[in-house]
Amino acid sequence: MSESLRDADVLIIGGGLSGTMLAVQLLRLPGQRQIRVIEPRAELGRGEAYSAVELGHTLNGNAARMSVDPDNPDDLTEWLTDYIGAGGWLESAEQAVPISELFPPRGIFGVYAQQRLAEAKARSASTVEHVRAEVVDLQVEDAATVVTLDNGRQLRGAFAVLATGMFPAARTPQTESSGLNAAAVDPWDVQAMTHIDPQATVLIIGSGLTMVDAVVSLEQAGHRGPIEIFSRHGLLPHVRRQPPSWVDFLAADPGLRSPRQLLREVRRQCRIALHEGIDWQAPLDTVRAHIGRLWSQASEREKRQFVRHVRPWWESHHHRSPPLSAQLVARLQGEGRLRIQAASFKGLVTVDERVTIAVRRRGEQGITQVSGAALINSSGIEYDWRRVARPLPQQLLKRGLIRPGPLALGIAADASGAVLDAQGHVSRRLFAMGPPLRGMWWESTAVTDVAIQAKALAYKLAKL
Ligand SMILES: Cc1cc2nc3c(=O)[nH]c(=O)nc-3n(C[C@H](O)[C@H](O)[C@H](O)COP(=O)(O)OP(=O)(O)OC[C@H]3O[C@@H](n4cnc5c(N)ncnc54)[C@H](O)[C@@H]3O)c2cc1C
Repeated sequence: MSESLRDADVLIIGGGLSGTMLAVQLLRLPGQRQIRVIEPRAELGRGEAYSAVELGHTLNGNAARMSVDPDNPDDLTEWLTDYIGAGGWLESAEQAVPISELFPPRGIFGVYAQQRLAEAKARSASTVEHVRAEVVDLQVEDAATVVTLDNGRQLRGAFAVLATGMFPAARTPQTESSGLNAAAVDPWDVQAMTHIDPQATVLIIGSGLTMVDAVVSLEQAGHRGPIEIFSRHGLLPHVRRQPPSWVDFLAADPGLRSPRQLLREVRRQCRIALHEGIDWQAPLDTVRAHIGRLWSQASEREKRQFVRHVRPWWESHHHRSPPLSAQLVARLQGEGRLRIQAASFKGLVTVDERVTIAVRRRGEQGITQVSGAALINSSGIEYDWRRVARPLPQQLLKRGLIRPGPLALGIAADASGAVLDAQGHVSRRLFAMGPPLRGMWWESTAVTDVAIQAKALAYKLAKL
């Protein structure tokens, strides 16, 4: 196909952090490319995570850990120094820590991502256009990809990249049919929470970082009543501290591979650390750099073992809570206002002035009904694209252009992000990055994962 008939060299589907960082990295490369980012939200660079308006909804790592520039770990600290210096985020003055140790509000992090995009645009011969729409279909031709937008328009690009992020579990048909989505209050909507009776009981399903955000939102909204939290294992995220560095024991022993061996060794290292008076988070933090390799080397059986036995532990120890939010949860627990119970959610019973849900407590056979004035669903993400009720995932599956990734977590791709079709052939035109590659890398969601993938994929696309 003649290049002049194309609307873009690269069509990026999704303009959250992943799509925006890919655009930044493409802009930074030599050459003249036309990039289009298709994103229904009004602003690029935010997605769900960085659209937060509540200052208490912060990053779960400090500035020193959250650079979007893989070549400069201090990039966010430097940007934040200028931002605060120019009168932004005045409340940060209340925290007596160096800027690198601050946990910035996620909304401010969104401004950072946007400024890095604006700067890259200003310095580049390439162009980026934000097309405000949802992609509802995609076809792959010999020399192009063609995307169909929800307004019926079609765009052609030499390459297309799926940067569609995470799909919330509550918006999938299985849970929607139980009415859960309609009955639940958005965990990030402080405004909606001001309508809840401040003294009434609130029920929360799920006890991960979204629950922590929901508790912050409730507190901000003036809620002072009981909060009852139900999650299968009843585990709370640990609080993130600033541990010292620790020897990279996995690099020193590449023979350690199976989840069982790995867990045993991690526990041993944590015990040594504690014995020496060092935070257990120090050895655990060295594991992060090896997760992608370990996961992709593991057999299907080992992956299943990890998900069944280690995942709850990994989630609560690795995906840690920002200190101020953790302090709030601990305070409410101490006051007896917040209670966490190990119980699985079994369904919605009734919704009228009160919400009643059915749960099964751990170790009990029977089902218990619990009622509250409101329900918040923070039970997580739907990674299985076969269950995501959005047009694009459904069309891609129907056309055989994608196949589920390992354990049906996201979609399958090669190491560079080139997507595998239903027959297992590697696409020359369609790529993916970020959360859709959960099954390929296990950790493929956090700021640093996305930043590293964006750089590598930009290089790959520039060479094709
Ligand atoms: C509430 C929350 C807090 C988080 N906090 C942290 C944190 O503190 N630290 C950290 O490291 N990570 C955090 N994360 C992880 C976070 O997902 C990543 O940091 C990052 O936002 C992933 O970016 P993304 O662009 O891949 O996904 P998303 O942010 O989900 O963006 C995807 C975008 O794609 C768009 N899209 C989807 N389908 C289509 C379509 N068919 N057509 C067009 N556009 C489409 C969506 O509108 C969305 O804007 C958080 C995630 C959430 C949800």
